Amino acid sequence: MPEIPEIETVRYHLEQKLQGQVISAVTVNREKALNVSTGDFSSAIVNQQVSTIGRRAKQIIISLANGYSLVVHFMLEGYVRLFYNHEEIQATPSVSLVLASGEKLAFYKLNLGYLHLVPGSDFASMPELAGLGPEPLSAEFSLAFFLNLLAKRKGMIKPLLMDQEFLAGIGNVYSNETLFCSRIRPERKTSQLTAEERTNLYYCIRDILTRAIKLGGVYEEKFTSDDTLTGGFEPHLQVAYRTGKPCYICGTLIETKRVGGRNAFYCPVCQR
Ligand SMILES: [Zn+2]
Repeated sequence: MPEIPEIETVRYHLEQKLQGQVISAVTVNREKALNVSTGDFSSAIVNQQVSTIGRRAKQIIISLANGYSLVVHFMLEGYVRLFYNHEEIQATPSVSLVLASGEKLAFYKLNLGYLHLVPGSDFASMPELAGLGPEPLSAEFSLAFFLNLLAKRKGMIKPLLMDQEFLAGIGNVYSNETLFCSRIRPERKTSQLTAEERTNLYYCIRDILTRAIKLGGVYEEKFTSDDTLTGGFEPHLQVAYRTGKPCYICGTLIETKRVGGRNAFYCPVCQR
């Protein structure tokens, strides 16, 4: 599932290519991905200009000039692609938009994911975004703020980092990477982390997410045919999906085990 760096990369691309454009037609092949009928969806967005592209946790919010917004959640396998004028839409998207420029925006594999039409552009009022924890890259997410959040927690650290009510937008890849960066084993009890480990974890979360965004995350699906940004962080992964490969720091083979129902990847020597 895409996490903050992947969604932020999509948001950046949408801002470059979609912002300011007018939607001239809509095709819905999977009405279940919507929260309204195809007719209501079309009449709310056709002939509307895209004003801003936002992100909250793992969701993208496309706001339109008429006040409506589209909330997109890709869940496990969804993705979005933009096709230039001379390109045809490939395969069958769940939902596609034709833009006044002649470009096409296609949302694929919204099987578990969705594209919801909501009134307004205020994130706080959107039910899709309710109950989410703080954004780890926001200004309010200071070291003191994080230490205070952690102080109340007792369970294993890796599932906690992935808990969207604790912290928004981190999933399996970046929980593994931030724990390697801070030299903490994924199954460690949060209550037993030292003060130094807690501080390291904070800086690792901020640093890794920031670097991953800069390098385009690890998403496999390119946004356009000439997209050279998406997926650029993949060669920089230290432990995620590297089972049996040598640790870049100590050479020990990376191991994996189930922690909180998900695969944890870690170096048995570097992480304690
Ligand atoms: Zn190591």
